[in-house]
Amino acid sequence: MKIIIVGGGPAGLITALCLARMHGAEICLHEKQGPPAYTSSLCAEGISRDMLQRLERHTGFDSTPFISRAVCGIQVHFPGGKCGYLHQPGATLERTAWQQAMAEFAGRRGVEVFWESRVSGIDELDADVVVGADGPASRIRTAIGGTVDMVPAVQYRMNLDRPREFLEFFIDERFYHGKHNDGYAWIFPKKDSFNVGVKGSFEQLDLFLSAFDIRGEITHRGGAPIAVHGTRFEGTLDRRKVFLIGDAAGLTNAATCGGLNPIIACADFLRQAVGWQEEGAYTRLIKTHHYDPAYWKAVRHLFYPPDATLRALGEILNNGPVNPTPAMAARVTFHPGLWVYCGRLLRHLKPLKQVAW
Ligand SMILES: Cc1cc2nc3c(=O)[nH]c(=O)nc-3n(C[C@H](O)[C@H](O)[C@H](O)COP(=O)(O)OP(=O)(O)OC[C@H]3O[C@@H](n4cnc5c(N)ncnc54)[C@H](O)[C@@H]3O)c2cc1C
Repeated sequence: MKIIIVGGGPAGLITALCLARMHGAEICLHEKQGPPAYTSSLCAEGISRDMLQRLERHTGFDSTPFISRAVCGIQVHFPGGKCGYLHQPGATLERTAWQQAMAEFAGRRGVEVFWESRVSGIDELDADVVVGADGPASRIRTAIGGTVDMVPAVQYRMNLDRPREFLEFFIDERFYHGKHNDGYAWIFPKKDSFNVGVKGSFEQLDLFLSAFDIRGEITHRGGAPIAVHGTRFEGTLDRRKVFLIGDAAGLTNAATCGGLNPIIACADFLRQAVGWQEEGAYTRLIKTHHYDPAYWKAVRHLFYPPDATLRALGEILNNGPVNPTPAMAARVTFHPGLWVYCGRLLRHLKPLKQVAW
């Protein structure tokens, strides 16, 4: 079976590594950039460590040398100044070095990597299976009629003097962008610097920095779209089976816009689906495991309630862990709006737990 993967970002590389474990597959990966200039797309580089372990279980690739900074979890800043902590080990990566190492590892596993090879259309690809991993502006997605929504995001690389134990998220109506109430700002620590960004524009990022009096040297600025709310993940074109993954599929977590965790999970679903050769199996696995963007579209309002609810949540968590305590449960019970919110959230807890951030 001949498999062609278009795109050598995390989605293409991790899919190649998963598929390389199948017997009898000839795998080629085409990446339009070439070494030594090959770089990762713009990213805050945050990931949970259990997903990095899952990547190693699925592919044998050890990401540990590419961890820039290990963190204890997530710190969520609520309006009003209070915060809550989610203790779940995480990390920021040196993403370009991580991707370069995965490409070399894939080569050693028998994947043929074609650098400086831009694919301009699906018709030129002679294969049994084509994997579209060509990022937010995917040509392969267009060829099978899939759609995504684009969310703008901007980021500064900064030198700051602040603790580095958590990935910090700031949720606040001031940072919502456009008509959707779904924005946030982040400060993710790296070894020697911080990735500081917002879903939105540079204007909103500067507003965030001045509102929280965050000062430091800016060493890099960048902006890029994130593809969310994908509608199609597979199709068939002239007897070629086509799969989409990563931003090409719009398979990002629509609550956090994190793309790396869904890639690690879905690359293994893709390997299983290719092995079974069963129509619709990939989509079924995505939906069964709650990576379906339609699910996230339905529950995203839970992550971005009005400021009054966020403030109340901050008061209840009161700079403590998000793990429930009796005192916390009592305060929620006596708050008229909050038990409705928490009740709705509870119904979604199981799938939310499965889909790590
Ligand atoms: C500001 C910002 C911060 C983010 N922070 C995080 C975060 O902290 N954690 C997280 O999990 N996610 C984060 N994301 C999302 C994450 O970066 C993406 O979801 C992820 O990069 C998607 O990987 P991908 O391989 O699908 O696409 P990409 O990383 O875009 O890779 C696509 C690859 O395909 C190649 N390519 C494109 N077209 C062609 C073609 N025609 N022929 C050949 N090659 C082609 C490109 O050169 C590229 O190498 C962030 C995104 C942004 C914009």
